[in-house]
Amino acid sequence: MRILHVCTEIHPLLKTGGLADVAAALPPALVRLGCEVRMLVPGFPAFMRGIEGLSEVAALPPRFGAPDARLLAGRLPGTGIPAYVIDAPALYDRPGDPYSDANHHAYPDNHLRFALLGRVGAQLAEGLDPGWRPELVHGHDWHAGLMSAYLAAAAMQAGARLAASVFTIHNLAYQGVFPSELFPEFGLPPQFFDMHGLEFHGQVSFLKGGLFYADQLTTVSPTYAREIQRPEQGCGLDGLLAHRANSLTGILNGVDRDLWNPATDPAIAARYDMDDMDGKRACKAALQREMGLAPRADAPLFGMVSRLTGQKGLPLVLGGLDEIVARGGQVVLLGSGDKALETACLSAATRHSGAVAVRIGYDEALSHRIVAGSDVLMVPSLFEPCGLTQLYALRYGTLPLGGRVGGLADTVADCSLENLADDTATGFVFERFEVADFSAAARRAFALAARPDDWSAVQRTAMRQCFDWDAAARRYLAVYRDALG
Ligand code: ADP
Repeated sequence: MRILHVCTEIHPLLKTGGLADVAAALPPALVRLGCEVRMLVPGFPAFMRGIEGLSEVAALPPRFGAPDARLLAGRLPGTGIPAYVIDAPALYDRPGDPYSDANHHAYPDNHLRFALLGRVGAQLAEGLDPGWRPELVHGHDWHAGLMSAYLAAAAMQAGARLAASVFTIHNLAYQGVFPSELFPEFGLPPQFFDMHGLEFHGQVSFLKGGLFYADQLTTVSPTYAREIQRPEQGCGLDGLLAHRANSLTGILNGVDRDLWNPATDPAIAARYDMDDMDGKRACKAALQREMGLAPRADAPLFGMVSRLTGQKGLPLVLGGLDEIVARGGQVVLLGSGDKALETACLSAATRHSGAVAVRIGYDEALSHRIVAGSDVLMVPSLFEPCGLTQLYALRYGTLPLGGRVGGLADTVADCSLENLADDTATGFVFERFEVADFSAAARRAFALAARPDDWSAVQRTAMRQCFDWDAAARRYLAVYRDALG
């Protein structure tokens, strides 16, 4: 099967969140199943620099504000997966974040930047590269949403389908909604601006392009697939998603075992595995040293690695912090994003010097050291499509603490008495998004820490959990077969 993935991030070249990890790990897993996989990405500087052996495949017509655009092709470093890059400096050659400027303002021409991505994805299905044509295109998140619409338009014109399409929702909260006046710039048939199409409350929604026109939809956990069909989590699209329920599959992300493995991880102070956990104790001591925390082996250490946005539950952490510290715990947090949240975290660290440490920024290696060195990893998200950090934590014997939402509900089992008795407990789960519930879950962590044998048993259960990309890839393949009909 020839599959084209269309996305905006691929680890380790460019990453702002979990999408990059998925885009790096799913394609090689599909290759292992015998698929022929290629990628298409915008020509952001990180891709232009990092994709190897780039050469021109085709010149692109001057559209979308990109006069000299070209399609290049090369290979991803490491995996060697073939990757197309849209070289359009006028749109993509900008420093920093792929979506916004240094002040976190979305670029005013994002509609053009990502319309071009979708258009070129559809053109590849139409035969833009004479040497390779996908049978199926797989778009990720709103940036690739218009691809399914362009493909539908091309099929209307050709009188036949050119390729099957699958669209994955990594986070429904990011939708790519633009004023209706911009619609003519996309060059799509006028009838596509309709409630049964791209129109969303009088505006144009790129995300809806994927949700409406793709043959099959997926999202990144079974629970999130159900949640987004209801008004509370549907972000205004629950009606459409419920209507498409038969074409919507929740597939949990996996863990890249080469990157996230405590037995081989070069970023952590000492390696360890389930049979020899001494290294984990060394990782905790090293983390305490590195972050300026008191060197106390007995202090339960609560870690967090996260984008700092409203989604990620920082108000619960900040609200529960005093109690964690009062009970003798420590907190270490790595994150960046919302300036007000950054400031609030930093002032908590100043208030609790020696017990709370905060690093603002993006630091891949430190994220590994926090996952390895902490006892508990906090993921108290308001909603969480899948969540990757709790999967990494489980592998490192660090017990996740989070709400019963989305992928967290599918991957973490609370240390309730019955789960402890059944050897299924892996973490601390709270029900309601409230400081009181968060704090009660944290108290369960302290209670378990006071029973070291039980803690070790739960750690072993956590480390035995298997979130495997090969299993996920097999599920994607089944979805692809449905899409191809
Ligand atoms: P989301 O995609 O919503 O940000 P996920 O849990 O799915 O959340 O994925 C987040 C990914 O980004 C994880 O690999 C996590 O380790 C990483 N990450 C988030 N913030 C940082 C940071 N400040 N430094 C390093 N890695 C980070």
